[in-house]
Parts: sequence; C-alpha cells; structure tokens
Amino acid sequence: MSGSALYETFARAPLSFERGEGSWLVTADGQRYLDFAGGIAVNSLGHAHPRLVAALTEQAAKLWHVSNLYEIPGQRRLGERLVEATFADKVFFTNSGAEALEAAIKTARRYHYVNGNPERFRTITFEGAFHGRTLATIAAGGQAKYLEGFGPKADGFDQVPFDDIDAAEKAITSETAAILLEPVQGEGGVRAFPAESLRRLRALCDKHGLLLIFDEVQCGVGRTGKLFAYEWSGVAPDIMAIAKGIGGGFPMGACLATDAAAAGMTPGVHGTTFGGNPLAMAVGNAVLDVVLEEGFLDEVSRKSLLMKQGLAGVADEFPDVIEEIRGTGLLLGIKCRVPNAKMNAALRDEHLLTVPAGDNVIRLLPPLVVTDEEIRVALDRIRAGAAALSAAPVAAAG
Ligand SMILES: *Cc1c(COP(=O)(O)O)cnc(C)c1O
Repeated sequence: MSGSALYETFARAPLSFERGEGSWLVTADGQRYLDFAGGIAVNSLGHAHPRLVAALTEQAAKLWHVSNLYEIPGQRRLGERLVEATFADKVFFTNSGAEALEAAIKTARRYHYVNGNPERFRTITFEGAFHGRTLATIAAGGQAKYLEGFGPKADGFDQVPFDDIDAAEKAITSETAAILLEPVQGEGGVRAFPAESLRRLRALCDKHGLLLIFDEVQCGVGRTGKLFAYEWSGVAPDIMAIAKGIGGGFPMGACLATDAAAAGMTPGVHGTTFGGNPLAMAVGNAVLDVVLEEGFLDEVSRKSLLMKQGLAGVADEFPDVIEEIRGTGLLLGIKCRVPNAKMNAALRDEHLLTVPAGDNVIRLLPPLVVTDEEIRVALDRIRAGAAALSAAPVAAAG
C-alpha cells in the first residue's frame, strides 16, 4: 500500500476541516478559511445552516430510508414545488449530478423510442462541457483526459465547439435525439451561452423534433441570481438535470422534464435505490424554503454586483495576474494570466478557498448567504494573493 488506503484519484490540498460555520471552514487547530469553493457549488446556504440542520436532524429521528417501493411524502412535496417553480411537469430524484444526467439522457432516448423513432438516440454536446464521471457522462462531456483508458467511448454523443450553433445544426442527423448543454459551463471556465444562442438552439430543437436538455447541476438553485440560470434567457428546456446546490451538502440530484419529454419513462424502465430518500428530501425542501423566500434571489444579484465591482478593481490593479472577470450571480470566474493552480494556491495561502476551472480560470462560489463583510474580506485576500504573484512593485498593491 502506498500512502493512504484511498484511491489516488484526487489531488487533495493538505488541509482538513473539523467544522463549518456559514461561509467559514475551521481546522482542528482553529485556523479559519473563508470558503468560496463551497464544496464545488454545493454548500448553497453555507455550512451548518440552522434551517438545514433542523430539517435533517428532525427527519433523522423519524425515518431515514424506505426505498421507492413506497410513497415518500417529502419527495412528492419537493417534486410538486420544483414543478411549480419551473418549466417541468415531472421529476425523478437521484443521488448525484451524473445520475441526474444519466436520467436526462435516458429520458430523451426513451421519448423517441416510444414515439416510434428508436434510431434517434444521439445527443449533441459542446466542447468544454462537464456532465459527470460515469461512462455515459464522460462520453457526453467529451474531454479526452476523462475518457482515456476507460475503453471505447460510449456511443451516442457528438460534440461541437462551444457556442457554435451553426456546427450544432450541421451535426443533426436522423439519429439525433437531443442537444445537451450547461447554460453556464462551470468546470469549463464559467462560460455562459449567450441568450441568443439558447434561443437558436431551442428553435433548432423545435424544427427537428429534438429535446433540449439543460445541465443546471452547477448553475441552478439560485447560483446565478435566478432559481435556474435558463430563466435569464427565457428559453425553457424539455429536460433539466440539477444536483449540487439543491442538497446544500446532502448528496442529491433530480431530473426534471415536461410531460411530453417524460412520456417514455413508464413503470419499471428506470430506477434508483437511494434517490429521493426521506433525509435528502427533508434537506432539499429546506433549501427551497430559504432560496424561495421573498427577496433572497435579489440579494444574490446584489452581492454579485458587489463582488464583480471589487474584482474589477483588483483586476485593474494587477493586469499581469488577472485577465478578465466573468460570470453571473455568485458563479464568478477570474481568468488568470498566471497559471490558475498558482493563483488557487496563493489564495489558499491567504485563507481563501476557491476552485480552479478550465480556460485558466479560478471559480468563486461563495454560499448564497455570504455577507457583505465576508465579500470585503474575500476581495482583500484576492488583492493580497494577486499581489504575491504580481511582477509589479509591492507598492502597487496599495
Ligand atoms: C458537478 C457536475 C456534474 C456531476 O455531478 P456529480 O454529483 O459529481 O456526479 C454534472 N454537471 C455539471 C454541470 C456539474 O457541475
């Protein structure tokens, strides 16, 4: 055995935490880190949010798991609330993002199957996409580094360049079932599809009888200042995968669909043992209680502006370190001129946790409940981290 008993699949930072408090993580020896990584956009309400702790512990004392052999009232309720708040008519609960995407892809294939077109099973995706790490979702994401060594790429995925709608149109064949994309690519470097592109994709899907699938695993559940990112464009999908933020740290996800799109998902064709269990549903309902409170999402947008204005100032101070600030809501990206891994480490040295992404970007994913004061602290730390990497004289750090 080398090192630890764990698979060596993760390049972990040499840090471990004993507890969390809102936007902060605390090590066993009392060191405090400002958490703008948020468990990769998962801790939507920060750590140990009292409403989530109460929901989970109350449910834990009553019932943990029964399986989908029985009615689960919390599941019915969360399903109804998601339907009420979105384009969707139907919801399937899962344990993770990748599993929600698997359900979405299967839903699209079954739709065509039950409509007499079993040959239509292919999905068009975009470069830079990330849809998970199962065999189908690495094929959907199309990234060579995640496919290498895992045998033949699962069939049924055709990829075109990011935001190249003409290429997407050309890629449509008589076998195409769906077009799948993240309205805002997260791992890909906080890259948003313009609203006009989403409108064109919607029109393409309508013209060719395809289903439009949005992956809002990262950008959904208030992250961009709307409950779901697609609302900014006014373009609704037929199917949508969500996860991460809806559980606030409890592992869960969901696949949402219109009645028409879900037509093929009949009894017995799909399933999950853990998906939608009472613990997950109690937490998911509590997350929605908070995120749907009057004014909550407006606050996300206000804080986003505060962050962006501050970040623009830091970018002006250190043009040799920061190329650009991008993103919507509290899904923000710093495109670096230095290697993003170095920037990530420099920020960690300042006790600010962030997440690297593609396109040499550092992601900032604070909890949606981050305070103005915490934003000011984060901006000071980003300024200090940039100063440490800048070739400019120290005086420039002000
Ligand atoms: C994280 C992520 C996934 C995969 O979610 P897991 O829970 O890790 O399986 C899929 N799509 C997007 C956009 C993600 O950010």
